[in-house]
Amino acid sequence: MDILWSPWRMKYIEYITIHKSEGCFICEALKTDKNEDRLVVFKGEKVIVLMNLFPYNTGHLLIAPIRHVPSIEDLSKEEITSLFLVVQTSLKMLRKALKPDAFNIGINLGRVAGAGLEEHVHVHIVPRWNGDTNFMPVLANTKVIPEALKDTYRKIIKYANYIEE
Ligand SMILES: [Zn+2]
Repeated sequence: MDILWSPWRMKYIEYITIHKSEGCFICEALKTDKNEDRLVVFKGEKVIVLMNLFPYNTGHLLIAPIRHVPSIEDLSKEEITSLFLVVQTSLKMLRKALKPDAFNIGINLGRVAGAGLEEHVHVHIVPRWNGDTNFMPVLANTKVIPEALKDTYRKIIKYANYIEE
């Protein structure tokens, strides 16, 4: 995907360069206390929420179990329950913070299905607004992200107390 205006892109390139050797960026985000730098929105007992550094749209979140496992088949009932409670309550947070008109929610399992990080399963939540694109963002080649990531982070984090697991 080409992004027309992306001041965070250099940071992203630095980030993946620094962290590639360490492996999983979700596990790395779990270890850090630099939540704003890593765009961590919520850390619970079983689930973490972070903003996607490479968003399809403003406010694109990743919801992941704490455990580093590749598929939802590897999760316990308790983890599945927590994961979807966090999906549910993250929607409430995003509605309050960003007032989207709609959402795409999905899970990519495996590289050919589009998973950028296939070892650690995660749910994507992509907020949508009327007129943001004529195509599904996963199919679009070019997309303008109107707000920088940190600005969006600061809007979202004010409502992070909506999240429950
Ligand atoms: Zn991991």
